[in-house]
Amino acid sequence: MATGERAIGRVRRVNGPVVEAAGVADARMLELVRVGEAALVGEVIKLSGDRAVIQVYEDTTGVRPGEPVVGTGMPLSVELGPGLVGTIYDGIQRPLEALRASGGDFIGRGMSAPALDRGRRWHFTPSLAVGADVVPGAVLGTVPETARVEHRVLAPPDVSGRLSWAAREGEYGVEDVVAVVETSAGERRISMLQRWPIRTPRPAGRRLPASVPLVTGQRVVDTLFPLARGGTVAIPGGFGTGKTMTQHAVAKWCDADLIVYVGCGERGNEMTDVLTEFPKLVDPRTGRSLMERTILIANTSNMPVSAREASVYTGAALAEYYRDMGYHVAVMADSTSRWAEALRELSGRMEEMPAEEGFPAYLATRIASFYERAGSMETLGGSEGSVSIIGAVSPPGGDFSEPVTQHTRRFVRAFWALDRQLANARHYPSISWLDSYSEYADEVRPWWEERVGPGWTADRAEMVGLLRKEVRLLQVAKLVGSDALPDSQRFVIEVCSLFKDAFLRQDAFDEVDRYTSPEKQARMLALVLLYWRRGSLAIKKGATFVELRRVKAVRDIVSARYAIAEGDDKAFDRVAARLERAIDDLEGDYGR
Ligand code: ADP
Ligand code: MG
Repeated sequence: MATGERAIGRVRRVNGPVVEAAGVADARMLELVRVGEAALVGEVIKLSGDRAVIQVYEDTTGVRPGEPVVGTGMPLSVELGPGLVGTIYDGIQRPLEALRASGGDFIGRGMSAPALDRGRRWHFTPSLAVGADVVPGAVLGTVPETARVEHRVLAPPDVSGRLSWAAREGEYGVEDVVAVVETSAGERRISMLQRWPIRTPRPAGRRLPASVPLVTGQRVVDTLFPLARGGTVAIPGGFGTGKTMTQHAVAKWCDADLIVYVGCGERGNEMTDVLTEFPKLVDPRTGRSLMERTILIANTSNMPVSAREASVYTGAALAEYYRDMGYHVAVMADSTSRWAEALRELSGRMEEMPAEEGFPAYLATRIASFYERAGSMETLGGSEGSVSIIGAVSPPGGDFSEPVTQHTRRFVRAFWALDRQLANARHYPSISWLDSYSEYADEVRPWWEERVGPGWTADRAEMVGLLRKEVRLLQVAKLVGSDALPDSQRFVIEVCSLFKDAFLRQDAFDEVDRYTSPEKQARMLALVLLYWRRGSLAIKKGATFVELRRVKAVRDIVSARYAIAEGDDKAFDRVAARLERAIDDLEGDYGR
């Protein structure tokens, strides 16, 4: 037995991933334990009298009553240090190198593969001189972790004092001591490898306002329903409506420094897609492989449910660690419904009283405890970092009134509602412009105005207004027929449908269309509104709706998303000029 390990009881009963132990003397709640001869990884989730209920993260087949249970003295924790980025883990942070190699399964039972490679050497450069003050979270040194992530070795949150020794620049393993801090409680030897319990949020300083958007390059998101850095959003949608595609698009193109992608209970081949696709994809801003900023946590449907339950917290803890280095991290979880189902299964096995639809009564608290880990923070070390959380929700039958969707809604501030009818009509992303919302829209407005110009707020507001108006007009048109509407109103419907085709639709498979910068989004929006404003005037002067619809330059507005490259402002100017000329000509026909 390793240090801190001691026998704490014996297996009494095995019920799938839930094991009851008897004769338990000194176990602690949430203590990490080893169950049975096979030493399976588990966690104490209930203690009463001399009984303990243990959630086991591995297949318990073959575990028999009477086998020993060993306590480790530690809560279920992640290993933190260089080597996380670019790695694929399971829900309790065991490296799945095997999965990458074979496209199949995974590690043997009871295996304690360390999360961080002990043999690997890293080039450490100290940041502080001996004698310097060390505050919690201070950067003690740096390591080039990947070509695009500089790993900052931090003083742990409970360490402060004076640096009494620092390693010289050179090659070190994660367990080598790289700094010694003289604290009021004595000397602390610090290596690059640190641990943190997954269910405990890492401490940070002040919470900062969520006023900078996480730019995703997805137009419907950035322009209409923005996510802020440090914000939370849910993507609810029925099967096949595009949750995974949306998550992947955001993971690929958003401007976070780091992505933690938690594949949670979905099919294994979707994770394999990520594994094969991400290394090949190149970030448009840095020209580097996207895998150089990504950590993957895979808990596919064929892996143990309890590890799935843990996986979202594992993801949150890793994300917070990089936040504490001053990075902006985005966490995706696909799907939180599969995660909630894992909770339900475990709760059922523990014979707890079920609440709505069989979910445990603590479902809402657990969902909250995940989304609460998002935030834009001043770090302990004094820099700024953020964790944004993007959770897919897959309600059975696409019915948003079910418990997971409803509770999630309470804890997120943005909602990208996927619409079955849009998906069926191949309008992708099928994010509904009517059912979605973002409470960050107001907060990120100054950022947009500064970035793309002061006209943006008015443009966006006008387009949102038109989409609302269109809903009412379509209702009327349904009753009386659209021919009965005046041209000015038919033109509203026309402009909205142009906006949907030219702007809201975005093809994830097209090299140009898959990512649109804020500048290009603003120009595309402005083109649609130019058509709207100039066209409305022309109608007032006698032009007809049908004539406006025939204007050829409208086709250039529709194709701009594919045909105009990033940064090609001249091309936008040309389309705008052509459009204005065409509408001028129309007006000319009415005697002006
Ligand atoms: P879900 O995860 O909701 O079950 P997926 O994300 O797997 O759904 O999407 C299902 C299919 O819809 C995809 O295989 C793809 O063909 C199509 N699709 C979804 N979003 C897009 C998009 N932005 N561009 C092109 N096709 C899309
Ligand atoms: Mg999916």
